Amino acid sequence: MTQTAPPVVSDPLRSVNPATGEVIAVLPVHSAEAVQAAVDQARESAPWWAGLSFGERAAYLLRWRTYLHDHADELVELIHTENGKPHEDAYLELALVLEHIAWAAKHASKVLGRRRVGPGLLMSNHQAVVEQRPLGVVGVIGPWNYPIYTPAGSAGYALAAGNTVVFKPSEHTSAIGVFFAEAFGLANPDVRPGVLSVVTGFGETGAALCRAGVNKIAFTGSTATGKKIMAACAETLTPVVLELGGKDAFIVAPDADVTAAADAAAWGAMANSGQTCVGVERVYVTRDVRDKFLAALQRSLRNVRPGTEYGPMTMPGQVDVVRRHIADALEHGGTTLVGGLDSVRPPYVEPVVLVDTDETSAAVQEETFGPTLTVRTVDSVNEAISLANATRYGLASTVFSRKHGLDIARQLRVGMTSVNSVLSFGAIPALPFGGVGDSGFGRIHGAEGLREFSRTHSIARQRFAVPGMALLSFRRSRAAMSITKRLVKLMHGRAR
Ligand code: NDP
Repeated sequence: MTQTAPPVVSDPLRSVNPATGEVIAVLPVHSAEAVQAAVDQARESAPWWAGLSFGERAAYLLRWRTYLHDHADELVELIHTENGKPHEDAYLELALVLEHIAWAAKHASKVLGRRRVGPGLLMSNHQAVVEQRPLGVVGVIGPWNYPIYTPAGSAGYALAAGNTVVFKPSEHTSAIGVFFAEAFGLANPDVRPGVLSVVTGFGETGAALCRAGVNKIAFTGSTATGKKIMAACAETLTPVVLELGGKDAFIVAPDADVTAAADAAAWGAMANSGQTCVGVERVYVTRDVRDKFLAALQRSLRNVRPGTEYGPMTMPGQVDVVRRHIADALEHGGTTLVGGLDSVRPPYVEPVVLVDTDETSAAVQEETFGPTLTVRTVDSVNEAISLANATRYGLASTVFSRKHGLDIARQLRVGMTSVNSVLSFGAIPALPFGGVGDSGFGRIHGAEGLREFSRTHSIARQRFAVPGMALLSFRRSRAAMSITKRLVKLMHGRAR
């Protein structure tokens, strides 16, 4: 049994270690025909997989989870080598993946199981039920920055909901993607081929997946590519869930634990070389605590070095974006608190903190996706909220305030917020994950993430006929209408 589609295109994909440039894997570039073959195979196995009970599917998913755990050393090493992140960060990513797969497996039955709903007085002779059914075949297209966390959030939940999945990893982390998907078959030797398969290649392979007749595309990546995916999927009315970029804000209120806030901002901005969709990119700190916050931030970053605390930039092209944003911030009134243009030493970028840059600069408006942070001083929390919301993105956010954290969070136009911690929403499987605006739409994770990969089927079953009361019929009697009018008046008429 193979979980991988046959390669067709001759020139292979060479995946490199971003720290050394060494080729670490040579993988096939799957053509449109090979992608179609993978989708056809997934389609063939879909009725079998959908026909299993929630409990049976959970057993497959939990064996996959255990296999990934038991091969942690190998997988962590591969993530370190192909993506560049430190071993500990790779391990943490794996730990979250295990949590998500287990949550999806164990909660699918409760979330997607049959639900009875009240039929209402006029239809009281009916039984009304809502059933969630699998969509069929789901195509998952993933980025390189969290090469197993992002697909687990889509593929894990789609599988738990009874769909088969074809996964296309980023060209930069294809070997990790293959390991992740093939582990499912290795953990479950009896599973039918195509329940979870992987196709590798460049953007064209992903584009072919969009056009291969899948029932949904779950895409995680940049806003620009998200728009292309949506346009391609529009041709066949294939639904999409889009997890796109962000420019996440971090608010430090006057009553914040400033030291804890600085520590969280430092990690949230620089971890994974800042290559985190929900990474902290903009801080808004109130004037009362500004100096204390900046001093604490400087201390938090004093010993943070690329190569140890975080890895190299995974994609060489991203280094140019980071350099451009730093230069742009400095041209727009910004000063440097930590680092500067000299901090860009490919493939590494040292931490850079830019203070009081103009809000119109690219460094504040565009996703930087590097270990940089802008900090702006504001006069009030209200000003911080309105600047935080003044972006086309709307992915996540952070608020530090001892007393007003939830109130502030509620005013932010985003899909997720951490209060008095950073990025924590992404580590809680029950919390839905996703954004608004240019950060996309739809949700992965949690109950919403399971429903995202199912279709709702409403069924009304007449339990008995009420003589003379066939409302939905040409045989409807005048007496039936007269009773109905009295009932409607009782329920909805003006109270006397
Ligand atoms: P890209 O948009 O460049 O690529 C994402 C995936 O799409 C890759 O597998 C890529 O393949 C593929 N792809 C590229 N072109 C096409 C196409 N025309 N049709 C179909 N598929 C295509 O994103 P990155 O990999 O650079 O990831 C970084 C981005 O992802 C950042 O903007 C980040 O914010 C966002 N992101 C969002 C998350 C969220 O949950 N909201 C989480 C993580 C990241 P290939 O790599 O082979 O070109």
